[in-house]
Amino acid sequence: MITSALRHRPESEDCFLYDADHLRLRLHTAKDDIASVTVIAGDPYWIFADASGQNIFKYTETKMTRIGQGETQDYWGVTLTAPYHRVQYQFVIEGLDGTKMLLGDRGLRADTEANRQELSNYFRVPYMHAIDAVQTPDWVKRTVWYQIFPERFANGDSNNDPVGTKPWRPEDHPGRDDFYGGDLQGVLDHLDDLQKLGVNGLYFCPIFAASSNHKYDTIDYLEIDPAFGDKALFAKLVKAAHKRGMKIMLDAVFNHMGYESMQWQDVLANGAQSRFADWFHINEFPVMPFRNPIKGEGQPQYETFAFEPHMPKLNTANPEVQDYLLTVAKYWVKEFDIDAWRLDVANEVDHHFWRRFYSAVTSIKTDFYVLGEVWHSSQPWLNGGEFSGVMNYAYTELTMDHFLTHKQTATQMVARLTDQLMLYRDQVNQVMLNMLDSHDTARLLTLAHDDQELALQTLAFIFTQTGAPCIYYGTEMGMDGDNDPDDRRPMDWSKLGGATWQSVAALIKLRRKYADTLGKGTTKLSVAPNGLIVVERVGEQKLTAYFNTTDAPVQLTTDAALAQGYAAGKLAPNGFVIKVD
Ligand code: CA
Repeated sequence: MITSALRHRPESEDCFLYDADHLRLRLHTAKDDIASVTVIAGDPYWIFADASGQNIFKYTETKMTRIGQGETQDYWGVTLTAPYHRVQYQFVIEGLDGTKMLLGDRGLRADTEANRQELSNYFRVPYMHAIDAVQTPDWVKRTVWYQIFPERFANGDSNNDPVGTKPWRPEDHPGRDDFYGGDLQGVLDHLDDLQKLGVNGLYFCPIFAASSNHKYDTIDYLEIDPAFGDKALFAKLVKAAHKRGMKIMLDAVFNHMGYESMQWQDVLANGAQSRFADWFHINEFPVMPFRNPIKGEGQPQYETFAFEPHMPKLNTANPEVQDYLLTVAKYWVKEFDIDAWRLDVANEVDHHFWRRFYSAVTSIKTDFYVLGEVWHSSQPWLNGGEFSGVMNYAYTELTMDHFLTHKQTATQMVARLTDQLMLYRDQVNQVMLNMLDSHDTARLLTLAHDDQELALQTLAFIFTQTGAPCIYYGTEMGMDGDNDPDDRRPMDWSKLGGATWQSVAALIKLRRKYADTLGKGTTKLSVAPNGLIVVERVGEQKLTAYFNTTDAPVQLTTDAALAQGYAAGKLAPNGFVIKVD
């Protein structure tokens, strides 16, 4: 047995309350090294004297199942209940070589009854406090998100068009600073279309006052950009969306402020005397002209997002800044009833601030969804009390690295995706945001080499995974586009109801129909001997999906063929079938 690979950490994603009564345990072992794992567990006070007067701990034994195989490790899992909400536990691990060991809080022991009675070697869950269980909003598990880049979705009101607005031509390759006049009225006008498509969560790129077309350079967090509409219109839009069962997520940029903001302008005007001088990370006055280190100009006078001088970084350790940003966060929830915040560059803002943020918004709406933009392992933010979930780039990029580029084999992808799922508690995985493209990347169809079937297959895979899928506007219209700004072309409404639209609508319908299983069920990924990728989701139903990412047709197993009404069908390259029991 490779004992150096054994790993378990209490009070982490390896040991967590799934809900008030269910404790989930995970154990990491070396890959293909272990024959079985049993957990011995019981109430720490469940101790009785035996006939000889010796105190004996009464434990029960429960077999763990191998819940996944990662790149270098196997994962074993079990769900325990405890009538008195207290548990102590150890693992009995049997290697394929016949070795049998106990793994507990103070290390490895030989598996003897005497060692099983060494109470100090038990891992402990002193009390299963429901209030300490990581809570994630249930509605997100049933949501298919739709990302709207407001400037390019639809122009519903030409009266608010910025000067120099270009005609709405979906075939255009937009320039970095072009305007096309999209606005909130345009979204309102098309809510019925979005409802027909089936999406039930709208994720808006920033809509607050800002000078650029993307609005990531916020001038005023408390105003809607006049080119998009006004507060009355936004309130109307939220109400109309809610009436249709759609949730609303807004994008908050709290890492930095726009150059044009009143606060930064005050710093520019008054230097060290500005009452906002401590709102930013300023090393030296005067702050301009900005020295850009990547241009070899030396240390910058103030800190910024990346090396963008027009995006000065906010000092979120300053209580005044905290109060201001929390006022903003609460304002849009209280006054406009939004359901979620997506937090831009969330990993570069301090944890202290996010804890205050989470507490502020969830005290208004208990099932509020807080989504962080983090591109790497995110455990520190996902232990409850900071973010509900993150944008799951690690997961979706690993998917694309197989489906779209074949940079990795199906087997590698499945192992790495399994490793990703094991980084977080199950209820957290269920509210990750799984998007294949966005306003920051080339469009899915372009990444799929303009092969619509391949794009759809990749999308279908994401729709069968744990985590809420998100579609970038225009995917359903079969739009392509390179990295930004080309991925931000005006929406092609001429394709509404077309073949691609129908395929995407069908996927959304399936995801929502089986929301309990696809949103909350268990997940098992594997590669069949014939090369098909197999996704098994078990919840209220059992759902099995097969994906052919090889370059030849693959004979379907009988079950899968029958499900599709084939007598002896073959699954073509780029094909997929989804079978529901
Ligand atoms: Ca307009």
